Amino acid sequence: MNACRRTGIAVVICAPSGTGKTTLCRRLLQEFPNLVLSVSCTTRPPRQGEVNGRDYEFLSSEEFLHKRDAGFFAEWAQVHGSFYGTPLAAAWTLSAEGKDVLFDIDVQGAAQLRRALPAARLIFLFPPSRAELERRLRARGTESEEGLALRMATAARETDQARWFDFWIVNDDLDRAWQELRAVYVASTLSPALRPQWQAALSAEWGLS
Ligand code: ADP
Ligand code: 5GP
Repeated sequence: MNACRRTGIAVVICAPSGTGKTTLCRRLLQEFPNLVLSVSCTTRPPRQGEVNGRDYEFLSSEEFLHKRDAGFFAEWAQVHGSFYGTPLAAAWTLSAEGKDVLFDIDVQGAAQLRRALPAARLIFLFPPSRAELERRLRARGTESEEGLALRMATAARETDQARWFDFWIVNDDLDRAWQELRAVYVASTLSPALRPQWQAALSAEWGLS
């Protein structure tokens, strides 16, 4: 085996819809080119500005179920009445290219990925309050009243699962939440196992066994 090959880490981030996960993930992806987003498949319709293949792969229910039954997904779940799934290829990217992969998925998917990838770092992002979550969802302007009520009801079930995550961040002040998310990611990449390229040099210098 090539001693310099680096295996990427899986960073899983979950939050109730409207918390600010997409906003924070975009910032993280912009700053760290070695971190790539796992682009999920979904049967929900695209929102204004969303691009097929960049934000999601948008599928019909028939296409999604066909892929699911063919074993295309590392995990899948039904969220807010639509199907969502992580293509297995995203997990393969980890070892194949040495990239770190960011998974923006719901808590059901996170539980499945934790079993499949035990070394994954799981982050739960909280909104500062229910009222602020509702305000953000309304301000985003993407949901009907029905969609909003569904998201608020799901939020309570999702936060109830937060206790088995590795890290908690409250997205109150965006810059502070960003600093904390950044810190979690950077610290996760400092493990010796993720720095094989240093092993030869450090062994030569210090005689590491
Ligand atoms: P999610 O991906 O979790 O559904 P978004 O990233 O789409 O959430 O954010 C929902 C809305 O809240 C957006 O309009 C975004 O600009 C806004 N937002 C995100 N973080 C904050 C914050 N810390 N303070 C105020 N508004 C925020
Ligand atoms: P939205 O429709 O607001 O983009 O996403 C709704 C929820 O589905 C969010 O919690 C988001 O993280 C989750 N989600 C997005 N992609 C996936 C996926 O591939 N698998 C699972 N399980 N959830 C996903």
